[in-house]
Amino acid sequence: MGRSSKDKRDAYYRMAKEQGWRARSAFKLLQLNEQFDLFKGVRRVVDLCAAPGSWSQVLSRELVQNVPASERPTIVSVDLQPMAPLEGVCTLQLDITHPDTLPIILSHFGDEPADLVVSDGAPDVTGLHDLDEYIQAQILLAAMNLAACVLRPGGTFVAKIFRGRDVSLLYSQLRLLFKHVTCAKPRSSRASSLEAFVVCQDFCPPEGFKPNLKKPMCITDYECIGDIAPFLACGDLNSPDADATYPYAVSKNSKPLDAVQPPTAPPYKKAIEMKRSAQL
Ligand code: SAM
Repeated sequence: MGRSSKDKRDAYYRMAKEQGWRARSAFKLLQLNEQFDLFKGVRRVVDLCAAPGSWSQVLSRELVQNVPASERPTIVSVDLQPMAPLEGVCTLQLDITHPDTLPIILSHFGDEPADLVVSDGAPDVTGLHDLDEYIQAQILLAAMNLAACVLRPGGTFVAKIFRGRDVSLLYSQLRLLFKHVTCAKPRSSRASSLEAFVVCQDFCPPEGFKPNLKKPMCITDYECIGDIAPFLACGDLNSPDADATYPYAVSKNSKPLDAVQPPTAPPYKKAIEMKRSAQL
């Protein structure tokens, strides 16, 4: 598939390049923020699974740019992959499932708790459905446990989920930790995909709960509060439909646009090198 054909098929892909976002996912966070006002009063924020960095770009544009240095919040972004730098964002190349990652994040906040944790984590898809689903669930659990360790009471956690078989167990776990849990579907997320985002507001863990990355929360230790979450579609109805094809997005004369920030160290680069040197 050529670049221009993807531009036609996916209005958000084209718009991301036109507006300078590193990935089309930027629109998901922007639309979630329109609905939930996520950034209000935020002083410390963690972006988990952040590469190539379009969510961090949104955070930087909304919270850092045009803000006097003394009033700028601290933004820490974490990913397994290296990330090109962004204004006002501290980027860390770390694994969110590793217990050592937590103290490193906290050290950037002077050991103060965060107001907001966002996570758009997803594994490299293998095509083996059960394995992919399992790894996705592990990333989400790691993000949730990290959030429980870094958030202040009343803080907010936003994470990508796939509304698969076991989603109600996840809602139960989140409802133990947060007063309000909503399953939100931004317009830029394809309706045909199981992807959605849990927006968890008002962090309020049960009494006696001590977050521990080495012994993550077990819901059977607590009385279950509820295993469903209200569903909310968000994003302006006038914004493009992520499943539609927009032939007008690329006119005969318009050229395909280059990616805003190509990956700094993509795994396929190594694969190409190995293939060239007959190691594959
Ligand atoms: N939100 C990003 C953006 O707007 O540019 C896109 C995130 S991308 C969909 C998913 C990311 O999750 C990948 O960059 C991947 O490296 C990262 N990831 C997966 N497992 C991880 C882990 N254990 N620790 C840190 N990052 C991880």
